[in-house]
Amino acid sequence: MPEDFGADNPRGLYFIADLANTVQGDPEVGAPALQALLAHHGGPPFTLSGDDARQLRVAAARLIRILETDDEDRAAEAINGLLDEYPAQPCLVRLPGRPWSMHAKAPRGADPAHWLLATCALALGLWLGERGRCAWGRCAAPDCDHFFIDTGRRTPQRYCTPRCATRVRVAAYRGRRGIDETEPGSVY
Ligand SMILES: [Zn+2]
Repeated sequence: MPEDFGADNPRGLYFIADLANTVQGDPEVGAPALQALLAHHGGPPFTLSGDDARQLRVAAARLIRILETDDEDRAAEAINGLLDEYPAQPCLVRLPGRPWSMHAKAPRGADPAHWLLATCALALGLWLGERGRCAWGRCAAPDCDHFFIDTGRRTPQRYCTPRCATRVRVAAYRGRRGIDETEPGSVY
């Protein structure tokens, strides 16, 4: 798991959502883009080969299947399957100014795909256990399919970003008012 555990980045899970969105957007995404994504999230400094990238895309597809489910029993089963297959080494880490928190290390010498599945399975498992539900999802905006991590405490999150939520609200408002969006001079 990347060490980029900011206060608003629960267990580095934003990395998983970002990876899922990247692979979903470009199923053939190559090594340079994946390496840049890892670096952006403070992941380990892998030098990815084309074969690593292929394996990472396959591994990401398994994570995507978990992010697609909102049934916690099915998600738990899938996460347990990954934990069996790719056991992580949990360890407590104290980042500057933060309380101790549980992180995962991949076994020494693990290849990038193994590292990804080991660390992400533990992160998703801890998150599911902590929240008691699949606190993630896919954006409900009609023209957006981005995954998100639901960090809200009250009502379940429906949109990937405030931007999508606003867009849907504006469209609904226009629909109610019968405003033609293509009308010249119509105000956003
Ligand atoms: Zn969205």
